[in-house]
Amino acid sequence: MKLFFGGDRMVERQAKLYEGKAKILYATADPNIVISYFKDDATAFNAQKRGQIADKGVVNCKVATHLLQLLAAQGVKTHWLETPSDREMVVRAVNIIPLEVVVRNLAAGSLCKQTGLPLGTVLTPPLVEFYYKNDDLGDPLLTRDRIRAMNLADEAQIDELTRLAGKINTLLQTFFQRCQITLVDFKLEFGLDSAGQILLADEISPDTCRLWDQATSDQAERVLDKDRFRQDLGNVAEAYQEVLNRILAQVNLK
Ligand code: ADP
Ligand code: MG
Repeated sequence: MKLFFGGDRMVERQAKLYEGKAKILYATADPNIVISYFKDDATAFNAQKRGQIADKGVVNCKVATHLLQLLAAQGVKTHWLETPSDREMVVRAVNIIPLEVVVRNLAAGSLCKQTGLPLGTVLTPPLVEFYYKNDDLGDPLLTRDRIRAMNLADEAQIDELTRLAGKINTLLQTFFQRCQITLVDFKLEFGLDSAGQILLADEISPDTCRLWDQATSDQAERVLDKDRFRQDLGNVAEAYQEVLNRILAQVNLK
């Protein structure tokens, strides 16, 4: 399959590099460019729960495209290059830093479990946390000292990741507010390009964010993200589509 982007440049899917839980990465003829293919597969609780969400790949590819473009327009360096088809994103190849950088505006999920903070507790300032991206170890919470001891990032890189996470949070919060959605928390992945620059990579989507609909205060009804799948709340695909629709409505306003 041939994909076209950037007018005269062409990329073609080559060898499968990696199949993850939600996406497949393909090589291209250019070692600096890879293709990320978005699947409908959904997993939760460190892949103990597995399923499919109808058209999730298509919706997440579109959502991630809009959000990465929005961030790029505000000066955040990202891996995104082009979205030439429904499920495929052409991105700069990076060496992923195996950290899940999590930003939390309201308490939810593992934070509530581990600290006893009630669901929805407002966190001011927002928390920026680092987890080790390692399924075998269950993605454990790290400290600055552990990150350094494990040689995952140096002091300056940890500072830079923290600054970027904060900036991205401010930009995304403002945007989701316009969509009448509360950005509860989200996970980011960063990587280093061939020049050693830190780029925002992977995806930002209802798989990787907690998003609450401001139109209702009902604790189940308001959930517009993967918690619908985790907690068997039903209407999972519909919630993902609703997030995309609200994003598109804002983008079309411009
Ligand atoms: P996982 O199950 O490991 O989370 P995914 O299904 O999310 O995997 O597939 C995406 C994989 O590709 C992840 O391991 C992610 O870290 C990696 N990745 C994301 N963006 C890039 C990129 N620009 N270059 C190289 N690898 C990337
Ligand atoms: Mg992933």
